[in-house]
Amino acid sequence: MIIIKSPEEIEAFKKAGAVSKAALRLAGSLAKPGVSTKEIDAAVEGFIRLHGGIPGFKGLYGFPASVCASVNEEIVHGIPSPVTFLKEGDIISIDTGATIGGWVGDNAWTFFVGKVSDEVKALCEVTRDCLKAGIEQAVPGNHLGDIGYAVQHLAESNGYGVVREYVGHGVGRVMHEDPNVPNYGRRGRGVKLQVGMTIAIEPMITMGTHKNHTLANGWTVVTNDGQPAAHYENSIAITKDGPVILTADDEGPWCTLQGGE
Ligand code: MG
Repeated sequence: MIIIKSPEEIEAFKKAGAVSKAALRLAGSLAKPGVSTKEIDAAVEGFIRLHGGIPGFKGLYGFPASVCASVNEEIVHGIPSPVTFLKEGDIISIDTGATIGGWVGDNAWTFFVGKVSDEVKALCEVTRDCLKAGIEQAVPGNHLGDIGYAVQHLAESNGYGVVREYVGHGVGRVMHEDPNVPNYGRRGRGVKLQVGMTIAIEPMITMGTHKNHTLANGWTVVTNDGQPAAHYENSIAITKDGPVILTADDEGPWCTLQGGE
């Protein structure tokens, strides 16, 4: 069931969104060579709690940490570890969520660790642009397929893969609501978008094959060919004036691509 939110509810949602974005920005500032993914997790959890929030991922379906931290060929759901140290040239996809006032913000960003190759940089830039392209389609009267088509078309026209098994979703008083928001689709197909829907759009795009598997820890999803993947996400509301990004802080809804800033 898709839950429609009132304008007042959408305003309240923005507080959770702002802390989620600020937490993501903090995570990005820590993404430097020599830092462990567990250090990033601990800093983000402290930040969210300091701002009166609850980390949205901790305990969700049993996930053991406050952020998902996925390095290089890890697509999504990477578990922070005290012995996973970032290296020059890595990329790290971090997913942060905060629950505040009963609303859940959800956003993700792939950061560069130091200097990355031109090839990896291009993958990240295109994936970020896929998110933008998807958001542009999130207007009343369009369909979910318009979002999926926009993401898929941009990714595949650049020669990249689109992950099928993990998708965006409705977001609101819980992290995952209806509907699913796939990163592939056909124009004009799927659920019709209405004013008051709140959804997380989150393209996961791969340099090589989109085929993937889950590691023995039961969580971390990696590409089958070991090539890198990127992941960008914002929570948005569909309003009569177009899409409004809910995961925005004082600096706006976007982070910089370069970590360590
Ligand atoms: Mg999400």
